[in-house]
Amino acid sequence: MRRLKIFDTTLRDGAKSLGLNLNINEKLEISRQLVRLGVDVIEAGYPASSAADQEAVRTIAGDAKGAVVCGFSGAEKQEIDCCAAALRGAGQPRIHTGLAVSPLYMKRKLRLTPEQVIEKAVFAVKCAKKHVRDVQFYLEDAFCGQHSFIAEIIASVIEAGATVINIPDTFGYATPWEYSELISYVFDNVKNIDRAVVSTHCHNDLGMATANTLAGIKAGAGQIEGTINGIGERAGNTSLEEAIMAIYTRQAAYGVELGVRSGEIAATCRLASRITGVPVPAHKAIVGANAFTGTRDIYRDDMEYVKPPYEVIDPDAVGASPGQDMQALREEMADDSSEIRVKNISITTTGVSRATATVTLDVEGDTLTEAACGSGPVDAVFRAVDRMVGEQVFMEDYALKSIGHNGSALGDATVKVRYGDSGLVVGRGVSPDIIEASARAYVNALAKIKILNGKAQGPASQPANII
Ligand SMILES: [Zn+2]
Repeated sequence: MRRLKIFDTTLRDGAKSLGLNLNINEKLEISRQLVRLGVDVIEAGYPASSAADQEAVRTIAGDAKGAVVCGFSGAEKQEIDCCAAALRGAGQPRIHTGLAVSPLYMKRKLRLTPEQVIEKAVFAVKCAKKHVRDVQFYLEDAFCGQHSFIAEIIASVIEAGATVINIPDTFGYATPWEYSELISYVFDNVKNIDRAVVSTHCHNDLGMATANTLAGIKAGAGQIEGTINGIGERAGNTSLEEAIMAIYTRQAAYGVELGVRSGEIAATCRLASRITGVPVPAHKAIVGANAFTGTRDIYRDDMEYVKPPYEVIDPDAVGASPGQDMQALREEMADDSSEIRVKNISITTTGVSRATATVTLDVEGDTLTEAACGSGPVDAVFRAVDRMVGEQVFMEDYALKSIGHNGSALGDATVKVRYGDSGLVVGRGVSPDIIEASARAYVNALAKIKILNGKAQGPASQPANII
């Protein structure tokens, strides 16, 4: 069996393309969990896109042991040099460079002839090779490219030293059989393809990302790319936990082996959801709250436990043990080291949908108290907090869920707050009291924005239409 590599791009194509401004601690938390999961490659960011991405790639490069740390780049020398500088501390650095290859993109976006595109691609790979041994080349919009041109450019970049060839379905348009044919075509028509690993990169616009990825593996791909929980631009990327468990459960059907520890999947998905504020739907394959309901406690008459025939995955195989959520939330509740903390809240409701909140905060060591009215207790609390913290923000989303049962249940609040021109920040708060959980979540988001504003970052989003 051949060994299939798992390439995680949660921090680059996932959270980043959603416009989320994760802070360095959040990115480190995700990358450390990805190392525990055992992914082969962590794409930590796009250094030339912002100072924050440079810092993230530099920090993760120095921290993630046992995984390849990859930085994304365009094909310009300046971007490649910037990427290489950020990767300097990595034990196993990889530069991921490339450019568009479809006729439309070459003409309209690059304004280059196919010959010029090949020239530029070879130049980019040679630039990257001066810094690192391991160079991955992406063919943006490959699925809409001409097969013969794709074969020609791949042969040229392998000749220039590319070690991995990424063939994306940038817009999630492919069917599994078409994607499989494209990968097969590359194997059959690129004479030096045995000197590189072929990688899949699929998007989920038609719900085909996982299916297309698996079709790519059957056609010979040696690496698959995706994100945890399938997060990403538009309908998202290939959901890595789905692809991993499809292979784990039906290994003989795919003929590949993996180096991941599947028992870390549930913890990884939960962490990514908590940090990005993107909820996991209850019916989501592998890690949704309902994925394993009804499959336990099946007994025969003689009280012998019988594994039901429709339970294709053992919950223990992905680490989905009951009660884990509660423990993680209690730890999170106890660990409030934020520079702004909620000290006290009192609420008076006056008639239908009117409330007054008096909130006391600890702001960098100073105790402040403010009162405000609102159209309900949560709104009143947020307004009182606004008066003390003084950031101009727009509430994009607010969600509250209950974890656990009866008297021991915890309120788990998530707010998504927009600030500046394009930045999005997620705040979370946990408390047995739902008003306090909401206040903590809001304060958590504002504290992050205060730090980000202090650093005067560039735009949060990467340029549009990158693989
Ligand atoms: Zn992508």
